Amino acid sequence: LGGKIAYGLSKLTSSSIVDAQALEDLLSSITRALIEADVNVNLVMQLKINIQERVGVAIEKHQEEHGNGSNDATLLSLQKMVQKAVMDELTVLLTPKKSKAYKMKRNKPNVMLFVGLQGAGKTTSIAKFANYYQRKGWKVAMVCADTFRAGAFDQLKQNATKLRIPFYGSYTEADPVLIAEEGVEQFVKDKYEIIIVDTSGRHKQEGALFEEMQEISAAIRPDNTIFVIDATQGQAIYDQAMGFREAVNVGSVIVTKLDGHAKGGGALSAVAATQSPIMFLGSGEKFDDFELFSAQSFVSKLLGIGDVKGWEEEMKDVKTAADKDELMKKMSKGEFTLRDLYKQFEDQLMVTPMSKLIGQGLTEDNKKQLKKFMTIMDSMTNKELDGKVDWHGKKGTDKSIESRIKRIAKGSGTHPLEVKLLLQQHKQQEAMVSKMGKSGMFKGNAKQKQ
Ligand code: GDP
Ligand code: MG
Repeated sequence: LGGKIAYGLSKLTSSSIVDAQALEDLLSSITRALIEADVNVNLVMQLKINIQERVGVAIEKHQEEHGNGSNDATLLSLQKMVQKAVMDELTVLLTPKKSKAYKMKRNKPNVMLFVGLQGAGKTTSIAKFANYYQRKGWKVAMVCADTFRAGAFDQLKQNATKLRIPFYGSYTEADPVLIAEEGVEQFVKDKYEIIIVDTSGRHKQEGALFEEMQEISAAIRPDNTIFVIDATQGQAIYDQAMGFREAVNVGSVIVTKLDGHAKGGGALSAVAATQSPIMFLGSGEKFDDFELFSAQSFVSKLLGIGDVKGWEEEMKDVKTAADKDELMKKMSKGEFTLRDLYKQFEDQLMVTPMSKLIGQGLTEDNKKQLKKFMTIMDSMTNKELDGKVDWHGKKGTDKSIESRIKRIAKGSGTHPLEVKLLLQQHKQQEAMVSKMGKSGMFKGNAKQKQ
């Protein structure tokens, strides 16, 4: 992600011409890079518009006054201005509008309650978190209130022992509230400054999980509740982050599994959109794979030029790039057919050497679902795929549509409801694209059309 944006910027800043076309090129490459990194399309469009508004007029004025030939100080300042606008807007994208991060207080117990679904990376992040603060000279301790998963206590104990951090837990006590309470009480008495409480994320039903979290929370009254979320689902994590935020008063977020993951941009911007401050990023299984998050330094690192080689390497895959261009062009007209959706699924399922190495972002269930949808589309006619059938136009049930759905279900060995689910998903995406097309989000492309 950073490579592509940085490359676009470096192209602009090394060019002797900064005109509307150069800006448009830059914005296109930024837009594409962000969408590929799974950032929400609406956010990306807003970012594009903001940058355009900030620098568009200045560029026009510069063109009028200096034409194309100028290589003076004003050109340099114009380039700097564009660069800054890009940095600022990316930073805004990753910054919640109104959030206050918790600040640790010295010589006092700071009780940190870790919550999140099973497998999100809580226990791992707790070890990293403890390590981070211990190195800075804080007195840290851990409590294991995950009484559900066998081995949960051992996992925490092992980490704590490696880091030489005191821990509290039990092999026999089944009540997580009781353990949390006792552990915190003991460590407060012993004057620990940061007391971290690990919990389970076991419950299939969110209601039961939230109830357990709320009970623990009521018992220990944490100074901060830290929600741990796995980045691999990209922008889809928005809903989960909102759910936890509302149920347990989340104060900070730790986003894990960002190691080389293509959907990191989506995850980070989705969390920012829930108005919860991101505190740390996890990027591996080792204790050191952990860094404090600051939107600004993240973005400047992201744009750190120097990864141009890697970017050029990626661009060898010209076919996908060309497909994406085609898609962008269509999207600028507000078009998004089932065939486009098919291509999108194909992209999502594509196995690259990198994705093989780090494991793909999609879960097996996700992949199965996408493949099923593609099988359904394989049973559609060209007319149906290319948007020539009005699936949702009429009120009530249209007989001919119903029979089409039946035919497709039969042909693909699926249930008509599954076909409808696919049509529903397509409708949602189409509506979004159409809205964006109308709002002129692809201004440059749209202009060429008129
Ligand atoms: P919990 O159920 O929320 O406590 O999750 P765990 O801490 O046990 O982590 C679940 C799995 O994710 C483990 O295999 C961890 O090693 C792994 N994991 C946690 N954080 C990261 C991360 O940042 N990157 C990667 N690649 N794996 C991680
Ligand atoms: Mg755990």
